[in-house]
Amino acid sequence: MLPARTYSDYEITEALAIIDRALTEKRGEYYYEEVLLKRVLPGESDTGTCEECNENIDAGWIDSEDVYPSGDDGPEFHPGCVCEEEYKEGRRRVYV
Ligand SMILES: [Zn+2]
Repeated sequence: MLPARTYSDYEITEALAIIDRALTEKRGEYYYEEVLLKRVLPGESDTGTCEECNENIDAGWIDSEDVYPSGDDGPEFHPGCVCEEEYKEGRRRVYV
């Protein structure tokens, strides 16, 4: 008989994640990957917000390693740009 072994919550969570991912991959579906996301927030100044940045703002949360629709990886997008940038942790579906 094997000696009794106590598993920590961390070990159990890790083991379940590995099993879940293996089953998902076996079904030919996807798994989730931790990813850092970013988005543009319209800043404000005496002249208001920048209209030329609406496309970047409308893009919403994107992968922090991607570029915004304007082709830039962050503000300032143009001289006098008042936009700000925000980051958060997120999950992304990775198809296998
Ligand atoms: Zn701007």
